[in-house]
Amino acid sequence: MWWQDKITTLPGVGMKRAIDLENLGIRTVGDLLYFYPRQGAYLDYSKVKNIRDLALDGSKQIFRAKVLRINQPRQGRRPFVSITVRDNTGFAELYFFGAVRYWVRRFKVDDELLIIGRMKAGGVTKMVTPEMVQLFEGDMTAPGILPVYSLSGSLTQNMLRKWMKLALEMAGEDLPETLPQWILDRLHPLGRYEALQNIHFPENMEKLKRARDRFIFEELFLLQCGLLYYRADTVAKQAPNFGVDGNKVKGVISGLPFELTPAQNKAWEEISADLETTKPMHRILQGDVGSGKTAVAALALAKAAESGYQGAIMAPTEILAHQHFETLSAYLQPGGFKVALLVGGMRPEARQQLLSDLADGKIDVVVGTHALLQEDVVFKNLALVITDEQHRFGVEQRAKLSNKSSDAVHTLVMTATPIPRTLALTVYGDLDISRMEGRPPGRKHVQTLLYTESDREAVYRGVRHQAELGHQVYVVCPLIEDSEVIDAKSAEQVYAEMHNSVLRGINTAFIHGRMKPAEKETIMSDFAAGKISVLFSTTVIEVGVNVPNATLMVVENAERYGLAQLHQLRGRVGRGTEQSYCALMLANDSDEARERLEILTESDDGFYLAEQDLRLRGAGQIFGLKQHGLPDLHIADILRDTDIIVQARKMAQECVKNKEGREQIKDLVQMQLDERFQGIFNN
Ligand code: ADP
Ligand code: MG
Repeated sequence: MWWQDKITTLPGVGMKRAIDLENLGIRTVGDLLYFYPRQGAYLDYSKVKNIRDLALDGSKQIFRAKVLRINQPRQGRRPFVSITVRDNTGFAELYFFGAVRYWVRRFKVDDELLIIGRMKAGGVTKMVTPEMVQLFEGDMTAPGILPVYSLSGSLTQNMLRKWMKLALEMAGEDLPETLPQWILDRLHPLGRYEALQNIHFPENMEKLKRARDRFIFEELFLLQCGLLYYRADTVAKQAPNFGVDGNKVKGVISGLPFELTPAQNKAWEEISADLETTKPMHRILQGDVGSGKTAVAALALAKAAESGYQGAIMAPTEILAHQHFETLSAYLQPGGFKVALLVGGMRPEARQQLLSDLADGKIDVVVGTHALLQEDVVFKNLALVITDEQHRFGVEQRAKLSNKSSDAVHTLVMTATPIPRTLALTVYGDLDISRMEGRPPGRKHVQTLLYTESDREAVYRGVRHQAELGHQVYVVCPLIEDSEVIDAKSAEQVYAEMHNSVLRGINTAFIHGRMKPAEKETIMSDFAAGKISVLFSTTVIEVGVNVPNATLMVVENAERYGLAQLHQLRGRVGRGTEQSYCALMLANDSDEARERLEILTESDDGFYLAEQDLRLRGAGQIFGLKQHGLPDLHIADILRDTDIIVQARKMAQECVKNKEGREQIKDLVQMQLDERFQGIFNN
């Protein structure tokens, strides 16, 4: 199809320009057409003025005039030529600097010109520094509203406009509609070709708005179709009904080392109800750090196991998988369930044994990392899939694990990151949400304090003090690229400095992401066992580790993190009964950084902090669709276009309801100019 042709097939696009275009993400003619102008940056040249009506405020305007006289060029430090033009209402001087001879030759008396430029007053005429002069030929009309694009390398606006016009000509000859007919009938959007024309070269502002609306809808509609398409198979299939809780699940509940909180109870009731139907559960369990999600997960796994099915729980890091394994083994022990751990880098014999036990159904619950996704991991009857700390896994990864069952599975996604409603709809499809507010009793508020470089001694004396009291301390330093070393303290550097001075004689260790899993494992279990007092690390501990004896968290270069992320880090302490502290070290003591981090010293509420993060850093930073394995949006904005998301979702549901609808959408996606959405559908 023509839109898949390389951009170099357009006249005037050579290798050099192609590289500049590639930097903008444009490889094909279709990519070019979907390269929308910068929002709000159109130049409105639709109103051609008389010379008399030109405003003299230095603004860019457009008018039509005839060449009256070409004046003698002025030489000197800055040579120029002026040309006098006129219309029925007055006179204007056009000033051309630089290549004087070229300008003199370009015009002759009585030429009709269309001129765009900045106007200033000058004697009896008006002065213009033209940015664009067109010789009037035939019925050449005003340029109208011109697009302004993002540029790269040596590209200019005029090049992009010219190529865009060529591409639009191709589209004019053959451009299939990509929205289903019934949606066109209902919403009456601009047709696809008209919308493309108007998003690049709008006839008027009203048409531009309609063009934008169409593409925003189209983008969100396809995204929703994609998400639902993923689920279409599973919706049609049934998942096992685990039935009401028997003695084993009850035993697990009463064997827990604590009473469930009301929030945990409510979440468990909701999950339990889902698991007692054959409609596959799609639920997200949202609870602040330390709210006790693991216990709820344990109950769901027990419920699956009690009715003879297998459950899997996937964690984003090995350390966390290990910790879950320990916790779940303890929690599930009263039920007599067999729990196993599957991570990367296991000894081949051990792994082989585990895989065969899993395939035979000898294992009830498997805890693991991405290693669970490997091809040769086969279940006897997987029926419940739980992923922890959701934001680290993409849609595809989740699907991959669920696909290890021939029937539909129940899925539970656990996350500490509060998710705005629009994002829940965009990224998670129609997941049900269980929200656990509050925390288990006895938790102390973590006292949070801001420090700067000059407090370093004092802060590390505090570290020493906690260690001497028999408590434990985390020190988190950013993992950094070499080029950044100047302004950020690397974990290694801080470790070396402190270990040899103020922390002399204290048991310390250093852990980082590039260590071998076994090494990390040893250090973490030594820390958990209290053999290490102060643990220096990169952010590997960010997710989920639970060491109740830890009472102090020091975060170096705290200004580099988002509030929600710092809140998660802070959640590693205050898990026991002792008063706990979080010391945020600012390397860059700007007012802005201080103001932002002060929010943390005042609030303990993860939902509130995530909202503040959204406000301060924007959605893109925090909720990039890419990290969920979804295509980028070019024109829609998931925070702004809430209503359209809801509408697009309803219509997408209608479309993928039956097989014909799904096939039709698949065909429509083939007709897209770019390939962003094809990945979703070709799975
Ligand atoms: P998260 O939601 O962050 O995953 P965890 O499941 O790791 O939280 O639980 C955090 C801590 O709270 C653990 O030490 C756990 O033993 C404890 N905990 C969980 N539920 C309760 C409860 N109902 N009462 C007391 N402590 C609890
Ligand atoms: Mg957790």
